[in-house]
Amino acid sequence: MGTDIKGVAIIGTGFSGLAMAIRLKKAGLEDFVILEQSNDVGGTWRDNTYPGAACDVPSHVYSFSFEPNPHWTSKFSPQKEILRYLQHCAEKYGLRPFIRFGSRVQEARYDSESGLWTLSIEGREPLICRQFVLASGGLSRPSYPKIPGIDTFKGALFHSARWNHSFPLDKSRVGVIGTGASSIQIVPAIAPQVGKLSLFQRTPAWIMPKPERRYTNFEKILFERFALARYLARKILYWQFELKAIGLLKPILMRIPEKDAKAFIDREIESPELRAKLTPSYTMGCKRVLLSNEFYKALNRENVEVVGEGIERITERGIVTRDGREHILDAIICATGFQVTEHSAPFPIHGSEGRELSKQWSEGAEGYLGVSITGFPNLFTIVGPNSGLGHNSIVFMIEAQVNYILKAIQFTKQKNVKSIEVKPEVQDRYNKDLSKRFTNTVWSVGKCDSWYKTASGKNTTIFPGFSFELRMKTRRFHAFAYKVEFEGVSAKSRLQEKMLRVG
Ligand code: NAP
Repeated sequence: MGTDIKGVAIIGTGFSGLAMAIRLKKAGLEDFVILEQSNDVGGTWRDNTYPGAACDVPSHVYSFSFEPNPHWTSKFSPQKEILRYLQHCAEKYGLRPFIRFGSRVQEARYDSESGLWTLSIEGREPLICRQFVLASGGLSRPSYPKIPGIDTFKGALFHSARWNHSFPLDKSRVGVIGTGASSIQIVPAIAPQVGKLSLFQRTPAWIMPKPERRYTNFEKILFERFALARYLARKILYWQFELKAIGLLKPILMRIPEKDAKAFIDREIESPELRAKLTPSYTMGCKRVLLSNEFYKALNRENVEVVGEGIERITERGIVTRDGREHILDAIICATGFQVTEHSAPFPIHGSEGRELSKQWSEGAEGYLGVSITGFPNLFTIVGPNSGLGHNSIVFMIEAQVNYILKAIQFTKQKNVKSIEVKPEVQDRYNKDLSKRFTNTVWSVGKCDSWYKTASGKNTTIFPGFSFELRMKTRRFHAFAYKVEFEGVSAKSRLQEKMLRVG
């Protein structure tokens, strides 16, 4: 049986994986493959099919700069439209022949001698590659709550990102756990349909009105005909959102939007007790600020109850709260987020000198520019450590990192490089600087727990600055920051040598 060898292997077909593949293809580097565990492209926009799923970042900026879409129907697109957009990108740029669907990577192992990665794939032959791009996304592995008795529940229990479409919502008694970005979209979407909805809130979220509206036909024609109209729409939206970073970096300023958000609660929520229950006690921005025009309205409904007493355990029949009350339910929906900081590598990744990524990251993930990791040569991450955003479109960060990775790969090709690995002292310096920059930001002083931070409080997900700073830092590949090993023999013969050994 022949062993499969590629120049670059990309894991995942969400925004990150597709962007990487498109840039490689445009640069004439077609020796790549994309491994996708599912059977379609789309990443989180394929998996999150819950009722009400939509994006809370405007579509003209939550899309690729090189592939504007004049046809967005509204300012904030629903999930299906975003998924269609990603499918369109895969078609338009001819990516489908490069994608191997149903390819779940189980393990990745680096060989220092050859500078090659071997990826073990469930039920398939292993794949060998020179460069390995981890574009599997931070929000791809559902996190189920660790509540005693969860396995004993006799009704339907599912996660927001794995919606059970065969469960009949009509007139049923539904419990929703969590009040994050997913929950506030689900609750208003299902509340009119279900018999009773109990929303189990652990921490209230700061919520602002969503400046949502549908685009008129005139606007869509304008966007279609005039590149300048699309360009301006994107730029204006980008800067509107980018300015929000100022408050996150100088949290005292958050008092202004907090006042607006409290006024929003007062306007929308009829009961004073419920208003108090829904008012957060931490600084706005410490957790993601949510946008919704329907969530509070839904909470006023007679068939909706916000349960703030805290969950004690789950029984065969429902959820028991700390006040001893049993809430009888037909279904429990866990809108409880994703495994982000707990299990940071999606599968075992063995780098050089016996390093394993999850072990290396056990005290919190660290990398360089969110793309490179010491001890893991020829591996690149997209939206890796400290490159997430709490205020603007992640697609902007993805494009910046993809640009950097492309330049790194081009560098290795041009110079006949066997391996590149970010120097430990460079990564250390970078992370020391990041932790200094976190001091006094809302994530450090805002008095909240969030999935941005590890249990010990280290923020491993957010970029503590303006998004354009990361873009500026990633404009050129920093060869000086890497240990570079050149090929003694030609890359081709090295591949052939490896093929003979493994095949
Ligand atoms: P999330 O923001 O992590 O929210 C999870 C919710 O579940 C929180 O309210 C959390 O409470 C609660 N929870 C977790 N474990 C619990 C437990 N054991 N008992 C009770 N409550 C528990 O998850 P998400 O709503 O799925 O959103 C995750 C991320 O996905 C977002 O931050 C965003 O980046 C992305 N997202 C984006 C959009 C969009 O429109 N762009 C939409 C959905 C999701 P605590 O707050 O107390 O921890």
